[in-house]
Amino acid sequence: MALPIIERPVRRPALSPSRAGDFKQCPLLYRFRAVDRLPEKPTRAQVRGTVVHAVLEDLFALPKDERVPETARALVKPAWDRVRVERPEFAGLFVDAEDGEEGAWLASAEGLLDGYFGLEDPRRFDPDARELLVEWEMPSGVLLRGYVDRVDVAPTGEIRVVDYKTGAAPREVNEAKALFQMKFYALVLWRLRGVVPRQLRLMYLADRQDLVYAPDEGELARFERTLEAIWDAILRAAKTGDFRPNPGRLCGYCDHKALCPAFDGTPPPYPGWPEPDDAESVLDRTD
Ligand code: SF4
Repeated sequence: MALPIIERPVRRPALSPSRAGDFKQCPLLYRFRAVDRLPEKPTRAQVRGTVVHAVLEDLFALPKDERVPETARALVKPAWDRVRVERPEFAGLFVDAEDGEEGAWLASAEGLLDGYFGLEDPRRFDPDARELLVEWEMPSGVLLRGYVDRVDVAPTGEIRVVDYKTGAAPREVNEAKALFQMKFYALVLWRLRGVVPRQLRLMYLADRQDLVYAPDEGELARFERTLEAIWDAILRAAKTGDFRPNPGRLCGYCDHKALCPAFDGTPPPYPGWPEPDDAESVLDRTD
């Protein structure tokens, strides 16, 4: 999922799919992001994803017959102008750019939207929800929280969870990560609405491909236990600050390599970890 553009009020500690995924990939990366909150420079691809998500959200606010490719393309520039204001950290994205780079980038966002229309016709349905904040507290007290791109509900009551991907189509690791995220949303929606989502649909706009997956109750129940185990491991590491690096091929994409002991770096002193409670804490920032 792209960078959300929704402002977040102060909330109680929670586990999000991205941060759970970070911890699974590399506990130290989790610490840098969720505990130290070290800044990361957004890439043009990430910001383009945010813009495309914003356009798709805007598109479904229009009457059905206006949801056509030309309208979507026309929404790109206003969405970028809005996102740029809402997220000042995006403002420097084209500071040193050559002439025409921003235009080409906007055109590539339009291309992704064309890819979307190659996968479905948004004039044929109204979503039940877009950019939906979902939260559910597990019996153990762990709060799960995330943003679902779109939820569709059929007249028969069957739920479909949809996520737009603006990167390339998945292979092995990426697919596993994407399914982890979708199972997370499916679990929360099941618990909130009492119905196991019938379908999880990942829409890869660049490649005009989708990945469709049907979860079952037993699988989601097992997934719930997996999330409990991840949270337990996070809290164990939190007590001592022992978040270990787990180097792998994704280190090439890590903004914090210079601080990582696996690459001869030194992390900043561990800032400490408050006990989870309803007060504001560093854990509020884990999504
Ligand atoms: S460089 Fe690799 S091992 Fe180090 S923190 Fe980043 S992801 Fe983890």
